[in-house]
Amino acid sequence: MEHTVTCKFGGSSLANAGQLEKVRSIIEDDPNRRYVVVSAPGRDDGDCDKITDHLLNIATEGIHFREQRKDTSPKQSYDSVVGTFTRLIDQSGIDGSDLLSDLKKDLNTTLSTDKRIDFIASRGEHYHAKLICRFFQKKGMHARVMMPEDIGFVVSDDFSNARVLPEAYDNLKELKSLDGITIIPGFYGVTREGDVAVFSRGGSDLTGGEVAYAINAAVYENWTDTDGVYQVDPQLVRDARVIPRLTYKEIRLLSSKGFDVFHFDAMINCKKRNIPINIRNTNNPTAPGTLIVSERVPEETAVGIARRDNVAYIYLAKDGLGEVIGATKDVLDILEKHAVKTYHYPTDKDDLAVLVDQNDLISNANIIREEIEHSLKPDVLEMIYNLSILSPVGLGMKHNPGILARAAAALMDEKISIEIVDQGPGQISFHFGIQGYFADAALQTLYKSLIENGYPMT
Ligand code: ASP
Repeated sequence: MEHTVTCKFGGSSLANAGQLEKVRSIIEDDPNRRYVVVSAPGRDDGDCDKITDHLLNIATEGIHFREQRKDTSPKQSYDSVVGTFTRLIDQSGIDGSDLLSDLKKDLNTTLSTDKRIDFIASRGEHYHAKLICRFFQKKGMHARVMMPEDIGFVVSDDFSNARVLPEAYDNLKELKSLDGITIIPGFYGVTREGDVAVFSRGGSDLTGGEVAYAINAAVYENWTDTDGVYQVDPQLVRDARVIPRLTYKEIRLLSSKGFDVFHFDAMINCKKRNIPINIRNTNNPTAPGTLIVSERVPEETAVGIARRDNVAYIYLAKDGLGEVIGATKDVLDILEKHAVKTYHYPTDKDDLAVLVDQNDLISNANIIREEIEHSLKPDVLEMIYNLSILSPVGLGMKHNPGILARAAAALMDEKISIEIVDQGPGQISFHFGIQGYFADAALQTLYKSLIENGYPMT
């Protein structure tokens, strides 16, 4: 079987001509790397906003940044986008004046609102793919660019949150007949009517996953600016190491602060075909990275510890409340109505609680409180803020008794109180709710007790 590799390079891998050269040499290093999906150019020269955000700001006439309380006008965003492409064209030494004039024309499109937003948002990836292709060709590589509109990458017309439609896979399969290197812009597809529609943010990963799936790649390499998935957030634990192998299930459970290395929808189809996903570092290409696979034999109990901050705890108490059928559902319905994300729902005879994302409560807390009071008439209703949830994860925990006890004992030794405990039903994770101001210390303690001191399987 042909062994082809689909590679996706994120914006941080592609912020300037020096980075372009690194990418070129990675592709050249392995002749199997034949399908290259690219993001929009990354941040460089001090601009702290992404190109895609500037494009959205142009498309929404300034609303995009105003909503984030940023004072950047559409004109400034336009200058930033055009300036970035001008700089990249100059630095890479290609002839790109036609790209610049086409880009400017596209930014002034007269399309109607949602079509216009998606069309403009996609231009970062669109022109970047063309630019990179010219750069590769200039360096003597046999490269071509294929646009979603050329290859029938058909998506639904849910603008800004498009879904891939089934016929897209047959069309993408045709890419297999191409020789040389094929460069594809990430983040967007075309609707059956021929309009550009983008995926949710970070969606270039998704394009990479779908291309890998359609051509049945041997591996999907996701190149970014970190050596892989770390055991815990390396900003907090300096000794944290990269996890060499993880299952799809484990990485989903680890997904949280410090682990948000790629778009999880990108995994869905790769998982169906058992295509491993290899997270690699463009700035350190000899590091093997993290390989995400369907199965692995664990040699350790916990592989990593996820952390989620800014969690609030909605607590209700009344005699018999936990025994009322549908009580938790009533609370969840109210939270769903107000678009509040929920995480865990511990219950007992006389009380129940729901853990939620506290940012989602900012403008809704009072009305939610009133609606819960009206529906369940609790004796106590408290909203407790600023919890952090720490979640050790690992396949090996399932068959090893005592991991939870060991973790709790380590926290007790440090006098850190546990507010909430919840074990995942699959028994490969458990969750401790801790007061936010103890979260750093608690994470370090759990790291030491479960990972650093090595608790191999018994
Ligand atoms: N450029 C898009 C974004 O910033 C897609 C991506 O980079 O994956 O969301």
